Amino acid sequence: MGASTAGLTFIIVGASVSGLASAISLKKSGHNVLVLEKDPKLGGAASGFNGCARICPNGSKILLDWDLLHPETKAKSAPMPGFTFFKRAVPRSLAYCFCLTRYRLVNAGYTEGSKADFLGENRWNEDLLFEARGGYMQFRHQDLMRILYDEAMRDSSSQVTVRFGAEVVNIDCEACTVTLRSGEVHTADAIIGADGARGIVRQTLMEEEGESLASDVPNGLTVYSAIVPKALVYENGLAPWFYEYDDIGSSIWVGPDRSVWIFPVGHENDLAVSVYTTDSTQDGTWTEPPEKRITDVIGKCDIRLKKLLPLARNVTCVQMKNPYSLESWVSESGRVVVLGEAAHPTIPAGLHPYSIALEDAVFIGKIFSHTKDPQRVPEFLYAFQENREKRCARIRDIDLEYVQACTVPLGPMHDQRDAGMRANHAAGRNAMEGDFQQMLDEFGIVFGYNASDDADEWWINWGRFRNPNTEHGYGETDGRLRPTSFISSVTSSATEETECDQC
Ligand SMILES: Cc1cc2nc3c(=O)[nH]c(=O)nc-3n(C[C@H](O)[C@H](O)[C@H](O)COP(=O)(O)OP(=O)(O)OC[C@H]3O[C@@H](n4cnc5c(N)ncnc54)[C@H](O)[C@@H]3O)c2cc1C
Repeated sequence: MGASTAGLTFIIVGASVSGLASAISLKKSGHNVLVLEKDPKLGGAASGFNGCARICPNGSKILLDWDLLHPETKAKSAPMPGFTFFKRAVPRSLAYCFCLTRYRLVNAGYTEGSKADFLGENRWNEDLLFEARGGYMQFRHQDLMRILYDEAMRDSSSQVTVRFGAEVVNIDCEACTVTLRSGEVHTADAIIGADGARGIVRQTLMEEEGESLASDVPNGLTVYSAIVPKALVYENGLAPWFYEYDDIGSSIWVGPDRSVWIFPVGHENDLAVSVYTTDSTQDGTWTEPPEKRITDVIGKCDIRLKKLLPLARNVTCVQMKNPYSLESWVSESGRVVVLGEAAHPTIPAGLHPYSIALEDAVFIGKIFSHTKDPQRVPEFLYAFQENREKRCARIRDIDLEYVQACTVPLGPMHDQRDAGMRANHAAGRNAMEGDFQQMLDEFGIVFGYNASDDADEWWINWGRFRNPNTEHGYGETDGRLRPTSFISSVTSSATEETECDQC
């Protein structure tokens, strides 16, 4: 690795969102980064798939702070001012019930000329977005990758190197080396696993805890993602529903057991479609077509969806899992860390995965702006987990709660959701008020967060102190390094303030 004289050397495994964003962030802090990506091309482009990257305000403010949101890049995204809620399908029992009273509702949504079953709408509060300093943006996955890659490579001479077709097949945590399939070996001061939920770095840390990928347990839902080109929506007479229904332009079709999320994406404003379904158990990937067709996993549904889904292109399917929660994101050696999907696997196609990957990158880069001392690497890696874990776990739960609320099986909760949304709409309120008030409140907290400020706070409150009684400034218990030992050490009297060694 061509390290410059100043700065630490990092190897990042994986050149997706968290890998490239971490390279940008560490470069800004004066370090040297080698990014190793197994795919032959950026963003999985070799596969031909190209889905939707949703960026919430907490993520878009990072792109803004990095000066990546010029008119040219902004034009590559579609805005999302909110979403409307419809019923994906009217349950048979309910239809029968209506049949006895109001016959016209029996065929709600199913037949040509019938009206869709509208529940209400959620519009993002303008003040909330203003306070959060960021908008809601939806890029094509590969466009976002290109923006991040270009920034990582900009003016970097030898500071950042990205190698494609470079699959890491072994990690030696003690020696801090990676071995590529080609047999090449690379060494660094630290290794960052940004290689996803099934990546070799997460697997290596799971093995240290006596676990394997089998500890990630499927939760019964699979998400099919696809793109429907705008031109096809118009050609098939569906524009009045998916582009012209209102000024929101995004819709979530809720139902028992399955739901369909339809949001505009990219410069062309094509439609990104996600189907959360119980009809598939395939453990697929983002770069391969699924075994079942998207039209086979949607069940009985509104006629508009029935017409839209056959137009889907670039279909992929990824199984949702309750992932094993790594006790330590850092290896026993203290030199290998995971972030992004590799640290906290998210809800596929959820609202937040991309934004928290960007947050992770900012946080790790920012804290490492305070040191070029290889001895302090373990302490800083533990600080990363200590500060990021709780937020990432909560955001994953929030995403899961949205999906579960939209796919709740028939029963009292299902009926309560629909009745609550209808009542809110009738009263002129946001559909999510009341029953989903907590989710609405959490939007504000999630969107308002600033990873850079949080990293500064860590430095002010903790990082600039170190425990002189231990070699690296953190404690050691039962052969395993614990970040909490470090935290408690700074609250005791045996601490001293250190200068930032970059200052
Ligand atoms: C090609 C691709 C397309 C995607 N498309 C979408 C989409 O359309 N919509 C959506 O919601 N989410 C998509 N995702 C998932 C999305 O990127 C993540 O949910 C999230 O944003 C953060 O991901 P990450 O960067 O932590 O990890 P990931 O995005 O999972 O990336 C991990 C990277 O590590 C690489 N890698 C894995 N193992 C090795 C190894 N041994 N050696 C070297 N490199 C390795 C992978 O090839 C990949 O590039 C996609 C992911 C990928 C990889």
